[in-house]
Amino acid sequence: MRIGFIGTGTMGLPMLNNLLKKGYQVCAYDLASAALEAAQKAGAERAGSAAEAASAGDLVITMLPSSGNVEKAYLGPGGIIERAKEGTLLIDMSTIDPGTSQRLAARLKERRLRFLDAPVSGAVGRAIEGTLTIMVGGEAADFREAREVLSAMGRNIIHVGPVGSGEVAKLCNNLVAGAAMIAVCEAFRLGEGFGVDAKILTEVIAHSSGATWVMEHGHPVPGINPNAASSRAYAAGFMTDLMAKDVGLAVAAAREKRIPVFLAPTAAQLYRLASAYGFGRKDFSSLYEFLKPAAPDAPV
Ligand code: NAD
Repeated sequence: MRIGFIGTGTMGLPMLNNLLKKGYQVCAYDLASAALEAAQKAGAERAGSAAEAASAGDLVITMLPSSGNVEKAYLGPGGIIERAKEGTLLIDMSTIDPGTSQRLAARLKERRLRFLDAPVSGAVGRAIEGTLTIMVGGEAADFREAREVLSAMGRNIIHVGPVGSGEVAKLCNNLVAGAAMIAVCEAFRLGEGFGVDAKILTEVIAHSSGATWVMEHGHPVPGINPNAASSRAYAAGFMTDLMAKDVGLAVAAAREKRIPVFLAPTAAQLYRLASAYGFGRKDFSSLYEFLKPAAPDAPV
């Protein structure tokens, strides 16, 4: 099977690599020539546009930064819709707004093109290992057809429901992870303020009701978990800017459905603020560095 792959950046490149390893032929396109060259070096064929990559594929995958990029790659000049063969299954693995996925799917359906939203969880490390969690929205038959290709890139592949629901699940997950990280950072700053040893506090929380995935795997205090981003100067991992984007998308999605949310907007603004102060490209656990205590002589 030939796969058209559009967006060969941080995540796309290792995902493409795993497809090649499984014996798929890949025709790649990226706006950035360095990203496209890397894909070619890995063994992919090089396309001159998203439309060309799509026309070369029996199945097409996109892995792009945000909703605007996805709309452009599918519907813009030189976009996928221009040349994808009738009936082709198009899988968008980017994290974007669920409403955009639904509108896009409707436009593509008019051209007899099939669409799945299939965002991923697990940062670059799991993209390299091919062990991503992939949450899929779309028709059950299309999901069954996509499963084998997706399993070249991920380990847990879950059909969530109709188009857009993969994105909803992804935003819900990142809202939980983003808010939990803030709580963990605040808790460890509090412990530190009172001279509590961070290792002992970790042991307490790990055996109590506050135990959470982000503390176990992404501990924000350097030196506690040698595999966490904090122990390599907060090199991402999953960067603050992406968390700000994803939690912001959750806020927008909640607004669309008139659902009150309180933690989500605070979390989104906090990650944005951290980004504005230079933490945007660092792992989101660097929020711990951002949340420094005020001077000891500041009035309480
Ligand atoms: P990235 O910026 O590293 O890569 C995206 C690539 O898309 C870039 O190379 C860019 O040149 C290309 N691109 C943008 N618009 C294009 C267009 N119209 N046509 C062709 N190419 C285009 O981003 P990334 O980190 O790989 O993230 C991709 C998606 O995966 C995002 O939605 C992100 O939220 C999600 N995600 C990322 C991570 C992570 O840890 N990086 C984890 C889970 C999910």
